[in-house]
Amino acid sequence: REEILRKPEWLKIKLNTNKNYTDLKKMMRAENLHTVCEEARCPNIHECWADRRTATFMILGSVCTRACRFCAIKTGLPSEVDWDEPRRIAESVKKMNLKHVVITTVARDDLRDGGASVYAETIKRVREENPYTTVEVLPFDFNGNKENIKLLMDAKPDILNHNIETVERLTPRVRAKAKYDRSLEMLRYCKELYPDIPTKSSIMIGLGETEEEILQTMDDLLENQVDILTIGQYLQPTRKHIKVEKYYSPLEFGKLRKIAMEKGFKHCQAGPMVRSSYHADEQVNAAARA
Ligand code: SF4
Ligand code: SF4
Repeated sequence: REEILRKPEWLKIKLNTNKNYTDLKKMMRAENLHTVCEEARCPNIHECWADRRTATFMILGSVCTRACRFCAIKTGLPSEVDWDEPRRIAESVKKMNLKHVVITTVARDDLRDGGASVYAETIKRVREENPYTTVEVLPFDFNGNKENIKLLMDAKPDILNHNIETVERLTPRVRAKAKYDRSLEMLRYCKELYPDIPTKSSIMIGLGETEEEILQTMDDLLENQVDILTIGQYLQPTRKHIKVEKYYSPLEFGKLRKIAMEKGFKHCQAGPMVRSSYHADEQVNAAARA
């Protein structure tokens, strides 16, 4: 029988379904919008939605052409492109009165431009409706297609976030259709295009990586001019997903954060519940100060 590690105390979630939470749920359903918070079963949803009234929008549908082994998002043939979605996102950002919004997308390997034109249009519409809101994008790798990456970057997001997710050795096992080097190249290319736009990446730990490999990943990100790093604990969304090899303690996360800052990241957030879009509004401020 496969051994399952027991979840430590610090990962117990506080459930909170107050009015903020139910309001957001209703709005997402009424506007037919998706969030990574719900689709990826993020453990922070009660904190982000109920306490902070913030969410991460997921555009271009809720079905992904890829099937990363850590991710709870549905895999299959995605829906038709919904050209009205940018308007609904922009209006929802306004209703939520967000100072900072994170917009991500499923991987759309089925579309010629990977969905970059819808993405760019979403940024434009959000800006028009919300001139004081900062916009963070969290795209997939567009298969390394520079034209598509540029299409997105030309819409000038305030932060470009692309997750390396895991160390090089585990990448083929954890996210088979992605490539470690391709993600690094994408981060570097975005920086070359717009040096003033901060870049950010995230690593999940607990998948069987060694400390040396984590530090190597930090070095690789820094070599490609990444400004902000987030490090969080991998949690298995269902029994079918890749299993957790280790639960890192808050102390270990603190140590990794310290190393990351000493190595040269402008900002690093590390902790068991840290996700790429967790407290993202604070990171944008930190990046601006750095
Ligand atoms: Fe949503 Fe990000 Fe908060 Fe998770 S951490 S609930 S994905 S905003
Ligand atoms: Fe999930 Fe992104 Fe992988 Fe798709 S590409 S399965 S959304 S992590």
